[in-house]
Amino acid sequence: MLTAKQIRTGFIDFFRDKDHDFVPSSPIVPADDPTLLFANAGMNQFKDIFLGLTPPKSPRAVNSQKCLRVSGKHNDLEEVGKDTYHHTFFEMLGNWSFDDYFKAEAIEWAWQLLTEVWGIDPDKLWASVFAGDKADGLPEDAEARRLWTKATSIPAEHVGAFGKKDNFWEMGEAGPCGPCSEIHIDLGPDHCDKKNVPHHKCAVNAGCARFIELWNLVFIQYNRTEDGSLVELGARYVDTGAGLERIVAVLQDKPSNYDTDLFMPVIAAAVQLTQHKYAGRIGDTTDNAFRVIADHIRALTFAITDGATPSNEGRGYVIRRILRRAARFGRQLDMHEPFIYKLVPTVCHCLGDAFGEIRQRADYVSTVIEAEEAAFGRTLDRGIEIFESAAKRAKKSHLKTISGDDAFQLYDTFGFPLDLTQLMAVERGLGVDTAGFDKLMAQQRQRARAAQKDTSLVMTLADTELPATEDLHKYTTDSCEAKVVGFIDPQGFKDTGRIEPGTECGVVIDRTCFYAEAGGQVGDCGTLRSESGEFIVADTTKIVNCIIHKGKLAKGTLAVGDSVQAFVSKDRQATRKNHTATHLLQWALQTILDKSVSQQGSLVGPDYLRFDFTYPKALTAEQIKDVEKAVREKIATDAPVTSALLPREKAEKLGAMALFGEKYGDEVRVVAIGTDSGEQVASAFSKEFCGGTHVDRVGSIGSFKIIKEESISAGVRRITALTGAGLTGYLEKRSEIVDRLSVTLKTPAEEVAERVAKLVKDNKKLTKQLKSASKLAGTDLMADAKKLLDKCEKIGAASIIVEQIPATSVEQARQAIDMLKKKAKSAVVVFAFSEDSKVTLLAGVTDDLIKKGIKAGDIVKQIAPIVDGGGGGRPQMAQAGGKNPEKIDEALTKASELIKQKLSTP
Ligand code: ATP
Ligand code: MG
Repeated sequence: MLTAKQIRTGFIDFFRDKDHDFVPSSPIVPADDPTLLFANAGMNQFKDIFLGLTPPKSPRAVNSQKCLRVSGKHNDLEEVGKDTYHHTFFEMLGNWSFDDYFKAEAIEWAWQLLTEVWGIDPDKLWASVFAGDKADGLPEDAEARRLWTKATSIPAEHVGAFGKKDNFWEMGEAGPCGPCSEIHIDLGPDHCDKKNVPHHKCAVNAGCARFIELWNLVFIQYNRTEDGSLVELGARYVDTGAGLERIVAVLQDKPSNYDTDLFMPVIAAAVQLTQHKYAGRIGDTTDNAFRVIADHIRALTFAITDGATPSNEGRGYVIRRILRRAARFGRQLDMHEPFIYKLVPTVCHCLGDAFGEIRQRADYVSTVIEAEEAAFGRTLDRGIEIFESAAKRAKKSHLKTISGDDAFQLYDTFGFPLDLTQLMAVERGLGVDTAGFDKLMAQQRQRARAAQKDTSLVMTLADTELPATEDLHKYTTDSCEAKVVGFIDPQGFKDTGRIEPGTECGVVIDRTCFYAEAGGQVGDCGTLRSESGEFIVADTTKIVNCIIHKGKLAKGTLAVGDSVQAFVSKDRQATRKNHTATHLLQWALQTILDKSVSQQGSLVGPDYLRFDFTYPKALTAEQIKDVEKAVREKIATDAPVTSALLPREKAEKLGAMALFGEKYGDEVRVVAIGTDSGEQVASAFSKEFCGGTHVDRVGSIGSFKIIKEESISAGVRRITALTGAGLTGYLEKRSEIVDRLSVTLKTPAEEVAERVAKLVKDNKKLTKQLKSASKLAGTDLMADAKKLLDKCEKIGAASIIVEQIPATSVEQARQAIDMLKKKAKSAVVVFAFSEDSKVTLLAGVTDDLIKKGIKAGDIVKQIAPIVDGGGGGRPQMAQAGGKNPEKIDEALTKASELIKQKLSTP
């Protein structure tokens, strides 16, 4: 039996033998096509060739394209697991002719490969051709029909003609298009999954699982113009697509794609993890859950590897939806903790030979998936409960739909994507009020938008034709002569007129030595000086090929046509150091942590550098030290930094590092460290695709220090570091701090750290002691005070408590007095205590007794002099201090007398 790997290679080799060049799959996340969320067909990467925008590298190509059909025109998500042959992620094998061979070869070769090389029984195969279309004025594709019947051994009655929907392929509303010819396989009546559908008859394109499309041969020969009419295209192309998973199922004689060696290892791993059994039944809830999870983990592994990350919009949201859907199916296998991420190694095992990139990023992908699973897992169980009660309500309602409110709550509070709610509803024979959901969603967006400011300047500019600026000088010089070409303000681009002092705008000149923000390096600042004015450039940016010097006219005037001298600020030297240091840092991280560390982003400016990279956990203090040391040692070698323009493929072969998922042109600039000439890139220890500005030799970076290491998202770390003057400034400030501490602590600088550590330790100990001591004292006082109340003297209803108490805090004594006043309802309390030969007197009186003329303030005022002190306060509560503890008794006796006197006089 052929393995999937042999079948993939077999396809490629078959066409290689027929002079086709192998072209690697393009990333599943298209780098340069905003109209497409994910690659969904082999032709995506050749689009510009069909449009006549770029010439093909060679006239024939063969490939296996990574495809994801989860959004837009092609969305097979709902089919996954329910049928045997639709996946989210799949491989599309294809052979291509760029104005070389046409229908005859395409049909003959496909037939030869399927029946002769792979030995599929011709009687099981069916072919379809385009039936023609009246509105388009196109006849049947007689050529294709003739080729099928004359040039192959297919039974004549197995060739059918179908209309535009099935057999005419178009790239979009306008553009290249043409008829196609599909090859289907009849798997036998047992495979029909529409037996219960009235009037169903198994046939090609009848939509049941008995007839499955294997291979689609597209013959691009027309161009649909803007007005909708068709014209014959100058060139003719063949674009074919065959689903690898389907072919493997046929050749391995399996009832479903999931039973092949592309999926079974993944399902087996899931069986291990979940301890549930997989029996391969279609329509079974448990088996279905396994299929969905196996499908989705493949999709997630590839998409995240190629640069998608779960988020709330666009591509990221599609990924999040797939992951949440998989997690929900995991609940059906009783998995309540993250586990899907554990399948990543198995996916790499199955597909890593054909697509090495997934192996390279496996750790990162696992970390991202685990974090997402954990985050969603926290609300999923509760969400399922909420869903169940919403479903109950829906069952009772006559519409049998989950309300928009419920769907929105599930989305907003529990993170259920709408399609997950829909899927769960369908399982119970319910619908979802999507219109209601959309309305609530729109309201939320409206609120979000209202909270956001409009930053439309760049948007309006992107549509304008802007002049190109020649900027080659940015690498070689810090000043150059140029002419003002125009100004940019919020109204747009002006190529005439002048600006007055104070005007803030963007200046466009014909040539510049300023570096415009790109590849993480900030734009240069500096000045543009003319005979009549001086413009301060605060930032430089680029739109298409136009460089914009943003800033303010500081002096004089500036007009279109003026000659200016452009000076880049000295900051640039610092930026250069930081940029080269970033390359050294990447090299050091890969050397010390792991080869697989890859850049996720960077920010390089004059003040500091920031580098984001994939790594699953925090760096240890030792790793940070080692990285710093490695960078510093390289700086000490004073190795030269060179750059060279190279064909992309050559640069890749030499091992130059590119940014994952970034789209590069055919010629790239490679910055190399450790070799004298750009020609010897191979021997450099660091080589990166880079358009930035660098120092000539690493020695001038001076020194390097990491000042922060943190996590920015699951699996991604961020390092902030300093070099050169930035580092010197930082160290000066630090040194000042140490000096100040040294003076305050009266300790030599070398011992400051230990001294502070000891102080902190002592402080902790003391605080603890103090807390427990005062707590004890406090509770004691309260308990004692209650006892005092029980045995105190009473005159009428009034309780009289006059006592010396153990040393305590004023705060606690006051609390005790308040407590007694409340408890007794009618009372006079006088407390005295001493500590370190200091006396504190406190008195409190309830309101009813104040009316009888007893005032706390008066009492302390009169007794304080006895203990050599003074004080006073309000009638309710008063306090005094004194210096003679020996006389406390005398003072309290006096207090008792005063109180009794007042109470006994009516
Ligand atoms: P179908 O009608 O079966 O959905 P399609 O018409 O969408 O197929 P094409 O767009 O012509 O398919 O894609 C070319 C080939 O890719 C198909 O012949 C099939 O073998 C394979 N293919 C398409 N969609 C999927 C999918 N979701 N999963 C696996 N293979 C697929
Ligand atoms: Mg389809």
